[in-house]
Amino acid sequence: TTALPTDLDIARAATLRPMDDVAADLTISPNHLEPYGRDVAKIDLAVLDEPTQHHTAKYVVVTAITPTPLGEGKTTTVVGLGQALQRLGERAVVTLRQPSMGPTFGIKGGAAGGGYSQVIPMERLNLHLTGDFHAVTAAHNLLAAMVDNHLHHGNALGLDIRNITWRRVLDVNDRALRHVVVGLGARADGVPRETGFDITAASEVMVLLTLATSLEDLRLRLGRIVVGYTTDGKSVTADDLGAAGAMAVILKDALKPNLLQTLEGGPAIVHCGPFGNIATGTSSVMADLVAIRRADYVVTEAGFGADMGAERFFDVKCRVGGLVPDAAVIVATVRALKAHSGRFRIRPGKPLPEGLLTESPDDVEAGIPNLEQHIAIIRRFGIEPVVAINAFPEDHPSEHDVVRAACERLGARCAVTRHVAEGGAGAEELAEVVMEACEQESHFDFLYPLDLPLADKIERIATQVYGADGIDLSPAAAKALREYEDLGFGDLPVVIAKTHLSLSSDPTLLGAPRGWRMPVREVRAAVGAGYVYAICGDMNTMPGLPTSPNAERIDLTEDGGVVGLS
Ligand code: ADP
Ligand code: MG
Repeated sequence: TTALPTDLDIARAATLRPMDDVAADLTISPNHLEPYGRDVAKIDLAVLDEPTQHHTAKYVVVTAITPTPLGEGKTTTVVGLGQALQRLGERAVVTLRQPSMGPTFGIKGGAAGGGYSQVIPMERLNLHLTGDFHAVTAAHNLLAAMVDNHLHHGNALGLDIRNITWRRVLDVNDRALRHVVVGLGARADGVPRETGFDITAASEVMVLLTLATSLEDLRLRLGRIVVGYTTDGKSVTADDLGAAGAMAVILKDALKPNLLQTLEGGPAIVHCGPFGNIATGTSSVMADLVAIRRADYVVTEAGFGADMGAERFFDVKCRVGGLVPDAAVIVATVRALKAHSGRFRIRPGKPLPEGLLTESPDDVEAGIPNLEQHIAIIRRFGIEPVVAINAFPEDHPSEHDVVRAACERLGARCAVTRHVAEGGAGAEELAEVVMEACEQESHFDFLYPLDLPLADKIERIATQVYGADGIDLSPAAAKALREYEDLGFGDLPVVIAKTHLSLSSDPTLLGAPRGWRMPVREVRAAVGAGYVYAICGDMNTMPGLPTSPNAERIDLTEDGGVVGLS
């Protein structure tokens, strides 16, 4: 195998199609495009009111087995599968999250796919794109400013200064801002209190934008944001503070999906970027509502493994958007399956352990229980799983054979895909298998009804998806759940913030852990976004930078280009 050029070199060498042509693939006319520079455009939401000749597209979600810290290739598979479907003559569109700038300057480099399966222009995608993240930051912090202003001017709503849950956000990995004191100085400088910053991707406004189904819905959800509680336990909202209208105005353009293209010139919609741990970790409902009316196939990504990303994709995103998936692709890699044997230790930023690169079908076999559970999770939702073996240069055919044989045993469709090295051509087998799976009738159903008590929803996810024996609510969590039900939040869906590195809530347990219970330390309500989340394990909503951040390698070239993004 010869080494691939870098992602940035491949992306730079690509010729971009004019945006009007890309939009025409989706039967979107130029008058519904709002160009942002030459190679990016926003899609006017008026397209949703237009009648189309198209029936609803087949809707395919790409998820994964429990990943290693390196990621197993969901984003590249989304792009590669989209490209392959286009090569096979289908009208296909991919929908993806916008990368957060914080990690781009931290350890991740770019996040627009990889090799010959990327979304371009990658510099635009990885940096500001159309400013949606900045709009989220501005709307979020306007509300924070109005909270502190309210305290300064007499606190007529009676907010308990020690129970204000609304923090501030910034799209920079800056650990020094996790805990701050605001309002220091003279009397005129505000009321001193402790608060902190989260990364913009962790903002409730980001999830809210992701889940909004119209401008009107966006405005209503913003109004419902709870910023804190009064001393007698009543919630105080953004509408109580009169902030939601201005926030909606800041976000009005950010609600429009962004159109870009794949390396092979097909349409790619990139919109919103909520965190995978405390939020949904999906791209927007709006983008998919546009896409399914304009294509034959929509391929989208759900963050982390199927236990986290796909469960929330089904129970939260699809429920909110009225979206019905036809198939789910589970990305599996030889390296992750070997890691699930428990015989190796993979650490982010470190080279892969030597033994992981040598041919060993045995180690792959030992990791199969993890894949098996992910297949079962997808089936639990009535969806057809397709296993995509994402081939890496260091894989051996005997190791792929083990995965194929396991899929046969489990009755799951399966294909090896080489889209990173070969582009869409390398994913044609996968595309054909996915098309076949989409023809099978789907029996999509949610894991829980909304009227189930909150604690039971959490327990159902833990036991039926993660494989726990049960949950252990801390006294504080149990009390908060009762209070939420009294406040009328009981009918919200739940999101569980746990490690993505294990099916369990303990990142060191690999494979398919059994005989464990999930501790729920704390619960919080994201009422505007529309869910309650349970915190099970360490959760960091403001990452830090590593010893040698990627920012040290990012620079301008003489011709004004960018180096170091990937
Ligand atoms: P995910 O979306 O699941 O986190 P990505 O698609 O972003 O994963 O891939 C994670 C990393 O692995 C990226 O740097 C990507 O370029 C790389 N990668 C993915 N698939 C392959 C492959 N088949 N060969 C080589 N590198 C790959
Ligand atoms: Mg990804």
